[in-house]
Amino acid sequence: MLNDAVVATLESGLRGELIQPGDAKYDAARAVYNAMIQRRPSLIARCVDVADVITCVNFARAQKLPVSIRGGGHNAAGLGVCDDGLVIDLSLMRWVRVDPGKRTILAGGGALWGDVDHAAHAFGLAVPAGIISTTGVGGLTLGGGIGHLTRQCGLTIDNLLAVDMVLADGRFVTANAKENADLFWAVRGGGGNFGVVTAFLYKAHPIHTNYAGPMLYPLEDAAEVLRWYRTFIVKAPKDLNGFFAFLTVPPGPPFPAHLHNKKMCGIVWCYSGPLKKAEKVFKPIRKRKTPALDLVGPIPHPALQSMFDPLYPPGHQWYWKADFVREINDDAVALHVKYGTELPTMLSTMHLYPIDGTAARVKNNATPWAYRDAKWAMVMVGVDPDPANKEKISAWARDYWTALHPYSAGGAYVNFMMEEGDDRVRATYGKNYERLAKAKKKYDPSNLFRVNQNIRPAK
Ligand SMILES: Cc1cc2nc3c(=O)[nH]c(=O)nc-3n(C[C@H](O)[C@H](O)[C@H](O)COP(=O)(O)OP(=O)(O)OC[C@H]3O[C@@H](n4cnc5c(N)ncnc54)[C@H](O)[C@@H]3O)c2cc1C
Repeated sequence: MLNDAVVATLESGLRGELIQPGDAKYDAARAVYNAMIQRRPSLIARCVDVADVITCVNFARAQKLPVSIRGGGHNAAGLGVCDDGLVIDLSLMRWVRVDPGKRTILAGGGALWGDVDHAAHAFGLAVPAGIISTTGVGGLTLGGGIGHLTRQCGLTIDNLLAVDMVLADGRFVTANAKENADLFWAVRGGGGNFGVVTAFLYKAHPIHTNYAGPMLYPLEDAAEVLRWYRTFIVKAPKDLNGFFAFLTVPPGPPFPAHLHNKKMCGIVWCYSGPLKKAEKVFKPIRKRKTPALDLVGPIPHPALQSMFDPLYPPGHQWYWKADFVREINDDAVALHVKYGTELPTMLSTMHLYPIDGTAARVKNNATPWAYRDAKWAMVMVGVDPDPANKEKISAWARDYWTALHPYSAGGAYVNFMMEEGDDRVRATYGKNYERLAKAKKKYDPSNLFRVNQNIRPAK
């Protein structure tokens, strides 16, 4: 039972702040990115350092409290927050340290990608991450990490060199290729199942300015564009990334008025090779078919990384369904066009993110990410600010996914999943699940960390 005296023991052990129901900050502190998620934790501990995290883990274990770990709070399933338990909130641990000599970046467990991009860019460096800069380093990395640099630099986990962690028993450990190598294997895709990561060490790449941005085409051309894209991108040089999307053009700059609110398809390109070669790379793409809108050009890496932030602020209703995809045949193209034409709201979208190139050079069992042979991570995303549209966006995403699922590889990227049950988690990890379950048994035998895409400890 949590009484005042018990809570006081936790509070006295923290340098950070403890927020409880009734506190003025409580509702803001329990809110996560997806406004569809409304959970009411008993305690929210805003940790400022590793000592705070150790205190929280020991407290949750001793009190048998459900515990969730909050990084950037972006998880669509809301896995950073729990009901009636303790939230270990890392949002005050957003520090970043760049070592320009070694080209490494050390980031606090609660850092956002915008923090990393900002710090790294001053040194002409970048770490492969996602496409929205307010996403947490923590959740994105631990699930894999797909973005504009995937084909060139691999997944985020392929650039992870080490983690500092607090385990379920309160021990602090470092995991890397040599130290606690089984744990290091497990965290590179196994999510927050194994403990609280207090720091991530990344390999950075000398990337300063990309040649990037969206090229949009009329919806009437979607089938032809998608058929071209599916063969073009898998043969493209690895420094060229491009994800396919169905979208509605936002009614404002930089989009021309005649396209406002129009449903379209497009490819968001990112060429991260030498800038002087960029025009040449895009010449055949532009020549093949003149886009209705071409916003592709030189852009500093952090500007690309935050390009879509204003469209997708926190607080929207958010529901998505995903799968890995090995090929997009003509039947799948036709279904994509059908559902792409039926985007239910302005912000709803569908993305096909390439996961080939450098990411595909890693073996299926080298990390928990079991779909290195797939070509895309596909996600149908229903989004709207109005809670009244919750059912509409969810039904569209579900129907779209149901239609395309038979054409998929089976599992989905864990970071693009809602809470979809044990079978989906197992399908996602495939043959790697048993090894993850063994690591879970070793590092978290009582499943203290279970507010996540949960891996059950091996029997
Ligand atoms: C708008 C938007 C855009 C996105 N774009 C991309 C994209 O381009 N590429 C991509 O790969 N993904 C993308 N994602 C998915 C994203 O990777 C996941 O939602 C991810 O879980 C977010 O991480 P977070 O730290 O912000 O989330 P949180 O909700 O804070 O946490 C998510 C999960 O990770 C665990 N976790 C977080 N931090 C830690 C930590 N330090 N230690 C241990 N466990 C931790 C939590 O316990 C929880 O289970 C996007 C999501 C959104 C909402």
